[in-house]
Amino acid sequence: MDELIKYGKKIVANGLVHSHFGNVSRRIGDYLLISSTGSMLDELEGKIVKVSIYKESSLDSIASSELPVHREIYKNTSASAILHGHSVFAVVESMLNDEYIVSDSCETEYFLSEIPIIKGGVGSKELAKNAAKFLKDHLGVIIKGHGTIGTGSNVKEAYFVLSSIEHICKIKYYLDIAKNRKDIPIL
Ligand SMILES: [Zn+2]
Repeated sequence: MDELIKYGKKIVANGLVHSHFGNVSRRIGDYLLISSTGSMLDELEGKIVKVSIYKESSLDSIASSELPVHREIYKNTSASAILHGHSVFAVVESMLNDEYIVSDSCETEYFLSEIPIIKGGVGSKELAKNAAKFLKDHLGVIIKGHGTIGTGSNVKEAYFVLSSIEHICKIKYYLDIAKNRKDIPIL
């Protein structure tokens, strides 16, 4: 089974995306395998398209609408896999914060010292440019009010980033509420 199919199921099972949203890809040399437009990430069998990173083709129209963003990231970073989800706490935190998510949880300390919040419409040049820029020296970003992008040297690593971003944002969300409650002592 392709790693994209395996981790697509994990993304859905762990609530990191809903319905037919989100998309996944991995790099093979000058090509990328990417989920097709409108596909559900837990039903990717037969729904993965192979296109060139560098040249547009007739198959582009059946690939995910975020293909331009994936292409730009592969052209400009060392990523070999890209996963995009719509997880709840990451989206909420991206709307409550500007520029970066910073938290004190251990994941943040060890490999995601800060998570950039970027802007740009779905599949737009602005989003492609911003994602590629920040993913040069960050493993993951959050698109403001929209969703998460996790990258890695393989699909498993990108999944670790995608799920860790949500975990960090969930902790930050509850911690910020707790800090404002006088009846809960902060240790
Ligand atoms: Zn999306």
